[in-house]
Amino acid sequence: MSGEAAMKAIVKTDTAPMAYAVRDVPAPKPGAGQVLIRVKATGLCYTDMSILKGEYKGRKPVPIPVIMGHEASGIVAETGAGVSTVKAGQRIGFEVLSGCGKCINCRSGYKNMCTDWHHLGITGDGTFAEYVVQHESLVYPLPDNVDFADAALLEPLSLTVRSLEHVKPFVGESAVIIGPGTVGLLHLQALRAAGVTKLIVIGLDADKVRFGIAEKLGATQIVNASSENPVDAVMRGTDGRGVDILIETASSPKVWDYLLDLMAAHGRMSVFGLYPQAQTQPLALIRKGVTLYGDVAFLSRHFMRAIDWLASGKVSGKALVTKRFTLDQAGEAFEAFKNKETVKCLFEV
Ligand SMILES: [Zn+2]
Ligand SMILES: [Zn+2]
Repeated sequence: MSGEAAMKAIVKTDTAPMAYAVRDVPAPKPGAGQVLIRVKATGLCYTDMSILKGEYKGRKPVPIPVIMGHEASGIVAETGAGVSTVKAGQRIGFEVLSGCGKCINCRSGYKNMCTDWHHLGITGDGTFAEYVVQHESLVYPLPDNVDFADAALLEPLSLTVRSLEHVKPFVGESAVIIGPGTVGLLHLQALRAAGVTKLIVIGLDADKVRFGIAEKLGATQIVNASSENPVDAVMRGTDGRGVDILIETASSPKVWDYLLDLMAAHGRMSVFGLYPQAQTQPLALIRKGVTLYGDVAFLSRHFMRAIDWLASGKVSGKALVTKRFTLDQAGEAFEAFKNKETVKCLFEV
C-alpha cells in the first residue's frame, strides 16, 4: 500500500434513511503505533442498521459521510513506526472502541464509559471496507483454530463475556434469553458451556429460522411469544420458580411489561435494549431481590477472553452465519437482515 490507493467501502452518504453507496474511497495509511488491517470478514449488526436508517442515538453524532461497520477480522497489511507486537501477514482480531484516556471514566478503568469515546464505524470510519487502521494496543493475533468468520464475531462475543461476568452463571441454574439474535445466541452457547441446564429462548413468529439455530445450539425450550404467553411458558418450564438468569436482547421495549415476572428469587438480569420508551414497575425487583445489570460495550479483558472462548470450541461465531455477502451485495445483506433470514449477515471482503 502506498500513495493514494483506492479501496472499496460501504459508505453512509447522507443522513437520509437508507442513504448509502458502495464506492471507491482512499485507503487509510497507518501512522506511528498503528496497524493497517486488510479486512477479511465483517458482520452487519443492529447498530449498523440504525445508523443506516438515521435512527442511531449515541454519545456523539455519527460523522457523515462515514464508512460503516465495526465487527471484523483480518490480516495485518502494514505496520506503522514503532509497532512491535504484530507483523505483516498475521491473522488478527481487533477491538473497535478506544477511550480518550483522560476522562474520569477512562482513568477509572472504564474506557467503555468514556465521555469522548472513539468507535470504528460509529464515531469514525469502520470495517465495511477493504482496509481499516487501528492502534496496535487493540490488535490481537488469532489462534490457528479461530477462522475469520468466527473472529468477526469477537465484538458481540466480548459483550457476552462482560454480561456473564455480571450475572455469574452457576452449574444447574436456569436462564431465559429474550431475542434469538447474535447476542442472544452467543449467550445461549456461553451459558450452556458455563453449566446452565435450563436454556429457554423467547422470540416471535418472524424468528422461525433463528429458533432452528437456537435448538441446534442447545436451547431446551423455545417460546414463540407471538402465539403463547411468555410468562406462562417460562413458569411451566421452571416448575413455577422462574429463571435464575435473564438476558434481554429483544429489540422491543414491550418485553419490559413482563421481564420481572420471569425471574426467580435473587435472579440476575442483564439487559441490552436501549429503549427510552420502556417502562417497568420496580416493586417486583425489590420483592424478589433481583439484581439488574446494565453496561455498554466492553473492556480489553473481555475481548481477550472472547478469543479464548472461540479457541476452546465451546462457543461458535460462525454457527450464526448462514448467509455471506460481498461488499457489492450490501443491498441484499441489508434486506436479509431486515427479513431475519439469518442471525448474522457476514461480508467476506
Ligand atoms: Zn455491533
Ligand atoms: Zn475517556
